[in-house]
Amino acid sequence: MGGTAVVVGGGIGGLAAAIGLRRIGWDVTVVERASTLEDAGAGISLAANGLRALDELGVGEAVRDASRGQYNGGTRTPQGGWLARMDGAALEKAVGTPIMGIPRSTLHRLLRGSLPAESLLIGAEAASVEQIDATTVRVGCGGTVLDADLVVAADGIGSKARSRLFPDHPGPVYGGSTVLRAITEKTIDLPTDFALTWGHGAEFGHIAFPDGRAEWHAVLNLPAGTRFTDPLAELRRRFHTWHSPIPDLLDATRPAAVLHHDINELRTPLPSYTAGRTALLGDAAHAMTPHLGQGACQALEDAVTLASALATEPTVEAALTRYDAERRPRSQAIARAARQAGKMGQQLSHPLAVALRNTAMRLTPSRAATHMILRHHTWLPPQLP
Ligand code: FAD
Repeated sequence: MGGTAVVVGGGIGGLAAAIGLRRIGWDVTVVERASTLEDAGAGISLAANGLRALDELGVGEAVRDASRGQYNGGTRTPQGGWLARMDGAALEKAVGTPIMGIPRSTLHRLLRGSLPAESLLIGAEAASVEQIDATTVRVGCGGTVLDADLVVAADGIGSKARSRLFPDHPGPVYGGSTVLRAITEKTIDLPTDFALTWGHGAEFGHIAFPDGRAEWHAVLNLPAGTRFTDPLAELRRRFHTWHSPIPDLLDATRPAAVLHHDINELRTPLPSYTAGRTALLGDAAHAMTPHLGQGACQALEDAVTLASALATEPTVEAALTRYDAERRPRSQAIARAARQAGKMGQQLSHPLAVALRNTAMRLTPSRAATHMILRHHTWLPPQLP
């Protein structure tokens, strides 16, 4: 079954969906409102499930080549003591790969490079998505109208397609934390490939890249909308007593490079990821807090699953039913687990609760900790023809 599709949104999810659909012989147009297809975000970590999805899309090898394996690292206290070590080699043995760290802009470039330039409509905002008869959906962007057999709404957490299709859904809500992050300007000597350090309602983490630079992030429990006049100075004030290399990571960063976003999520799960001939995908369907590093990995899983269903089911309707049945339970369970991981990790602030959590973590054998992480990474993609 071949067909035509319009993908609304050229983020990681939308580009992956377009690659998957093209691989099964569909004619695809990606509509992206930004005038340059450049994800300005800092870095991203990709777990085995996301990497396997990328393999199925034909870009796994290129992504691995541009990434750095997160072989050693773990969770620390602000004084530098270890709460848990994570052994990337053990993950590699269990699921074939450690978690890989890559600048978002590199991942985006590699995905973009797998699509012909003429399939990308850049600087075009989809203003409407309308089912005009049983088999045709119409996307209006500016003066252009695109008719297709399928629309993939990959328009992110603020998805307008989602609010049109599910007008009673409350939409995204603030997850309780705000995140500041950047990629260092200079290369930096780091003792570990990655680390997460938990204080009271605060986390500082880093991911090292192959070129010796690193991304860092600071997550803080603060009211939504809090902003600082000099974010880097504020972070130095908050983190200057935390263990090395945290102050060095801040020192290796240009002030203008610091991004600041509130963390929002779809706390109320959607009743369906499809409506008529439209499929919601990625953050549009299941925006989750970043505490498990799974949001983009889930979008990649969505993309491969959708393409596989369209390639193997006899009708688009049957494929969309299968897509919803396969993707909704898993991605919504991971979103719940991510929220819970945040509550027990970065967001925990009461000193007694933090002390109890830290003791429990120190007593947990590293094999058990690895097993918990692996729960989400063992997903196997359906094979694309
Ligand atoms: P987006 O990336 O939001 O893309 C949506 C696109 O749609 C945008 O380009 C937007 O411009 C476009 N768009 C919107 N509306 C329209 C319209 N009307 N017309 C045309 N275009 C439109 N995930 C991981 O797997 N690993 C991690 O380590 C990780 N770390 C994270 C750290 C932080 C701090 C955060 C906030 C998230 C993290 N995530 C991580 C989650 C991950 O970033 C997201 O899940 C992922 O980027 C979602 O991709 P998407 O394509 O669904 O949405």
